[in-house]
Amino acid sequence: MAVENMDVKIADSMCSEYQSVWILNTKDCTMKLISAKKEQAASDSIDTAVKMNSYPQIREWYLENCVAAVDKKRVAEQTMLDYVLSRIQDGEPYYVEYTRVIGGKSNYNQIVYSKLRFEDGSDDYLLFGFRDIDVRKKAERDDLTGVYTRQIFFQKAEQLLIDYPDTQFDLMISDIVDFKEINESYGPNVGDDILRASGEFLAKEIRDDVLVARYGGDQFVIMASHEYMLQINEEGGTDEFEGYAKFQNLPKFVTKFGVYENVKHNKSVISTCDKAHSALNSIKHQYGKTIAFYDDKIRREIEISRKIEGSMHQAIEQEQFKVYYQPKHDAMTGKIVGAEALIRWIHPEYGFMSPGEFIPLFEKNGFIVESDGYVWRHTCKNLRKWMDKGIKTVPISVNASRLTFAQDNLLSKMHKSVVENGIDPEMLHLEITETMMTDDVETLVRKLTAIRAAGYQIELDDFGAGYSSINILSTLPLDVIKLDMSFMKQFGDAKRAKVLAACIKLAKELGYKTVSEGVELKEQCDVLCILGVDAIQGFYYSKPLPEDEFEEYLKQNI
Ligand code: C2E
Ligand code: MG
Ligand code: MG
Repeated sequence: MAVENMDVKIADSMCSEYQSVWILNTKDCTMKLISAKKEQAASDSIDTAVKMNSYPQIREWYLENCVAAVDKKRVAEQTMLDYVLSRIQDGEPYYVEYTRVIGGKSNYNQIVYSKLRFEDGSDDYLLFGFRDIDVRKKAERDDLTGVYTRQIFFQKAEQLLIDYPDTQFDLMISDIVDFKEINESYGPNVGDDILRASGEFLAKEIRDDVLVARYGGDQFVIMASHEYMLQINEEGGTDEFEGYAKFQNLPKFVTKFGVYENVKHNKSVISTCDKAHSALNSIKHQYGKTIAFYDDKIRREIEISRKIEGSMHQAIEQEQFKVYYQPKHDAMTGKIVGAEALIRWIHPEYGFMSPGEFIPLFEKNGFIVESDGYVWRHTCKNLRKWMDKGIKTVPISVNASRLTFAQDNLLSKMHKSVVENGIDPEMLHLEITETMMTDDVETLVRKLTAIRAAGYQIELDDFGAGYSSINILSTLPLDVIKLDMSFMKQFGDAKRAKVLAACIKLAKELGYKTVSEGVELKEQCDVLCILGVDAIQGFYYSKPLPEDEFEEYLKQNI
């Protein structure tokens, strides 16, 4: 064998890193051992290979005797000589990894194939070597769950897509609903057990075309062939998941899944994960829905979100946001007693946009602080304008998001416009929601107290929506309770009516005023009057009105 004039650099470095290194004649398939660290390598297999001296023969023997069952099929395909030669054509080394089992003991192993250049230009030979990568492999695993780490997942998934160019893969991200609450209620050990069980469940079938990793926190990512994923989704895999947890004596929990089908082989895995994540996010707040697929609708939503984010700064400069005002009327006398400022966006491309279309995005990207400030400033200016025109005005409530409220200098910012326009703080109310109730309730109470001391009133918005906590009424310093419009939507429901009556009674006893939202019918108005609600807001009186129409409304209704 013409080993004398080969590229010795490659051979040298391989001999130092690998437990055995071989040179293979690709024409007649004979092999020669050029280095072996007997103390680390499995000397039996080396001796057998030396004796056989034929790549196809030793390959067959090795697959049969030394490769873990789950890896056999893949390793057989990946070590076919023709396939190996096609993989090392571009000059890069080519790696095959698998679990080696010898004498009942297993460890991770790697084979590397490398092109061997000779000074005379002949390419009849290649080098290949074996090494133990157990330690490195363990570093690729998440300590708690044993599945791959996120970073390794990206690498492995990219490789899987290259190795299986004709396979359709799907990618799915899972998320445990309210995991934070589970941790708080049952303790972190139970939380850890749930994560471990989740990892085990997802990685239960070790296959070449299935990759599972911890995506972060309580999220896992799985990329697998379409047929495998269908099996999970169609056979009620998500229910099975919960069944598995129950079997492990874990408390009941719900997992949601976002799926991206038919992963593009030429697109980055990171961007595919983002898309599966968007699908997952689309059902985050949908009770009872546990799986969502990335589809045209979500793609369009993401496109729109991008466009909105690209045009929101300009919208402030060009005053594309408009503030509408919805009147609030005294329940007994019918007189106008206030109004709520509500933002709209007249978008140059999309036209009229309701807050539901952009506020959630602003809350996510932080721009809500800017838009809330805009509404506040415009409302102060409008109050000044109406006063200057000699129109009698009513207090206006402005919505404040959690992020807006979290600003340290909120009060001084609020004051600035109020002072500049010479307005009495009593003419402005701040609407907050229960989402403000973060961990730091003390700071929240301090802030609210300061705002009230400065003369502004605080309204608690959407009370009674979802699972409102009654305790909030005794914890926070408030002035007005706004009863959520769901009470009106479920107007005929006898139990709901009792809850409404109790809320009104309790608010009154605690000294708060009440406003009922979303009132559309006279009949609702009459009942609310009997129950003792102070004010009514809703289409029964008026829709939210643009600035000039509200000005007319003020003139006519005071
Ligand atoms: P919200 O603060 O609870 O405002 C009341 C919503 O109910 C408004 O929707 C209003 O148009 C609607 N509404 C009023 N009366 C009726 C009725 O009789 N029937 C029905 N079906 N709906 C009625 P809008 O203007 O679409 O605002 C939706 C939400 O967006 C608001 O809910 C508020 O949470 C948020 N929002 C609006 N403007 C702002 C803002 O400037 N800043 C912040 N942070 N949030 C805002
Ligand atoms: Mg509101
Ligand atoms: Mg509301």
